[in-house]
Amino acid sequence: MTLSFDLTAEGARDALRARAVPAEKPSLIGLTRAELGEALVASGIVPERQAKMRAQQLWHWMYVRGVSDFAGMFNISKDLRAELYKHFTVARPEIVEEQISADGTRKWLFRFPPRGAGRPVEIETVYIPEEGRGTLCISSQVGCTLTCSFCHTGTQKLVRNLTAEEILAQLLTARDRLGDFPDRDTPDGAIVPAEGRKVSNIVMMGMGEPLYNFEAVKKALLIASDGDGLSLSKRRITLSTSGVVPEIFRTGEEIGVMLAISLHATNDDLRDLLVPINKKYPLKELIAACRAYPGLSNAKRITFEYVMLKDVNDSIEDAKGLIKLLKGIPAKINLIPFNPWPGTNYQCSDWETIEKFADYINNAGYASPIRTPRGRDILAACGQLKSESERMRKVDRLALEAMMIAGHGEA
Ligand code: SAH
Ligand code: SF4
Repeated sequence: MTLSFDLTAEGARDALRARAVPAEKPSLIGLTRAELGEALVASGIVPERQAKMRAQQLWHWMYVRGVSDFAGMFNISKDLRAELYKHFTVARPEIVEEQISADGTRKWLFRFPPRGAGRPVEIETVYIPEEGRGTLCISSQVGCTLTCSFCHTGTQKLVRNLTAEEILAQLLTARDRLGDFPDRDTPDGAIVPAEGRKVSNIVMMGMGEPLYNFEAVKKALLIASDGDGLSLSKRRITLSTSGVVPEIFRTGEEIGVMLAISLHATNDDLRDLLVPINKKYPLKELIAACRAYPGLSNAKRITFEYVMLKDVNDSIEDAKGLIKLLKGIPAKINLIPFNPWPGTNYQCSDWETIEKFADYINNAGYASPIRTPRGRDILAACGQLKSESERMRKVDRLALEAMMIAGHGEA
């Protein structure tokens, strides 16, 4: 059963719109500490000598307390709060819809305001609660420039990169909705880890190729892992790439998060078809970049994602090829059952085939968890972060408009 809060209803929508970011006011979310101080000074409301202290104060309110309104920042004078309000915002984005699956998976459809000459855009973020952890799957772009043949996002043109603020907004809003900030209550009936943080892990596995939006992703993840703020351990943040080789080393060196590679094939001929960026950066280069990933050790392994496609890449020969390819790399292998979407020519491998494949890999000494499909009733799985929006576009005039503006709607 799907429990869906229809935030397209008039009243609910108005209430959320009231919290939404007015496009003309710059947000303080997503700035580095130094940039935050500079923005305050440049606006003329904070003297230079106070910049560092004020930046620290705001940082705490925004990222430790999760406050989304200057009015809640009690140790800042009323006058300064009013000035901050005039010049800036810390508000959350508009939530167009929140869906909750029977298994506790949640999916949000966010609308972000236009940037420059663009139009509003919509993206999806998914929360997956499990025993002992809660994982948030974050998007880095609206659409994707790449065209992996089994991925629904790949059928959608790139509309634009998300800003660091928009990437962080997904985390902040999810934490709001789950009651994951101090002094907040978790909504009744929500499925969340029994102890600890509700969002304990982040995966950059939503829409888009994070390494084609490197600077914004870097900024957002450094803020998410800042020890005096959102404070997520870098060990609990995983960035997934289709294999943008030139940015892989930088990811380790400058961001320092865990790396996942969307491998899906073990020879260039097949990988060229499944993950076309392979034509630009073939397996040899990709594997060399993985071997050189900074900080790699048995305690810090690379995850290799492998989508199970029936009669395409799921034979024991393929499993052998996989083991051979990854020899000597501290690796985890993540087998992902293919999530079909309307119009795809691929099918998910049979369960028996997946198990045989997994057994082979386990015998070769790799832990190879099969990612359990989650949130199927709300289409919250990987590679499906488009279909639901399409369905909603049919029933939601505004969303339909956004789609046509974004140039990828035939409706
Ligand atoms: N662009 C990045 C991150 C987003 S995709 C990347 O490609 O790594 C996140 C993961 O979901 C990738 O491993 C991707 O290959 C996988 N994926 C995409 N479509 C899928 C589908 N229909 N079924 C299962 N996995 C899919
Ligand atoms: Fe883009 Fe990743 Fe989908 Fe490939 S799998 S099209 S890189 S989102």
